[in-house]
Amino acid sequence: MLLSIVVPCYNEQEVIPFFLEELYKITDKMKSYQFEIVFVNDGSTDRTLHDIKNYARTDAQIRYVSFSRNFGKESAIYAGLHKAKGDLVAVMDADLQDPPSLLPDMCHAVEAEGYDAAATRRSSRRGEPVVRSVFAKLFYKLINKMTEVEIVDGARDFRVMSRKYVNALLGMKEYNRFSKGLYSWVGFRVKWFSYENVQRAAGHTKWSFWSLFQYSIEGIAAFTTTPLVLASFVGLILCICTVLAVLFIIVRRIVFGDPVDGWASLACLITFMGGCQMFFFGIMGQYIAKMYLENKRRPIYIVDEETDETDHSAVRRF
Ligand code: UDP
Ligand code: MG
Repeated sequence: MLLSIVVPCYNEQEVIPFFLEELYKITDKMKSYQFEIVFVNDGSTDRTLHDIKNYARTDAQIRYVSFSRNFGKESAIYAGLHKAKGDLVAVMDADLQDPPSLLPDMCHAVEAEGYDAAATRRSSRRGEPVVRSVFAKLFYKLINKMTEVEIVDGARDFRVMSRKYVNALLGMKEYNRFSKGLYSWVGFRVKWFSYENVQRAAGHTKWSFWSLFQYSIEGIAAFTTTPLVLASFVGLILCICTVLAVLFIIVRRIVFGDPVDGWASLACLITFMGGCQMFFFGIMGQYIAKMYLENKRRPIYIVDEETDETDHSAVRRF
């Protein structure tokens, strides 16, 4: 049985040697499998590609795809899944935050226990900045209220999947890829594994608070149209309030003969309404923007170079 291990890499030169060392420790023990390691170089600006090529020369199990620029992790995962030939396909980060020691159990679950995918989640967010955890929790609460598919809090991209599952994922060719949602959207039987959060072995995380925020908006826009319903709902409530307010003013005028004044409250109302309108236009704009991008049907990634499949000069490790 061939197990493909897809590894997205963006400026990971410091960590790849450790990653391979740890991975080999595990794969050497998994005798019943053949392996293929697919490195996806996501437009790294350091020596990542150079190093990967060297590794590919010394080990015939290693293949690589290199992008023409940085397309983001989601695109890198898609490309990796596309290139993987295995009966089972694993996706792992290069920074050893996804412990390879879980691989045997995960593969067993998919191969022998009748699951289509083995997925992982962090049992805690220890070691993460507090603000980030608070916002992350909030995001998962919010998105799960709004969507039908379940987006699991703390779910990682570390997965082992059957061929059937991978093909289902590849069938979704959308440009805005929010893989945490795509994974649960395809369904199938999934076994969950939890583990403690591990610090990355070397190098730096590529996520800033701002990029995570944008990613979460992307997730919401990709998987639910609830914000649009919310906009109509708030609009309706405001209309009802207005009718009530008009009735109140008319009655007050007729019964008590009050003069109609109050420019201050009027000014407040106008700015409030203006604010609401802008906010909901913003939400609508998000969806229109997504539609615009999807409609262009641009490729999800562009390959600059990849392993020369006809070159058999690489040495077999086993
Ligand atoms: N990554 C990528 N493209 C990007 C950003 C990240 O391929 O634009 C890869 C990165 O090399 C690593 C994985 O995605 O293998 C996870 O990235 P990182 O460790 O920065 O994220 P975190 O673990 O902090 O969520
Ligand atoms: Mg990481």
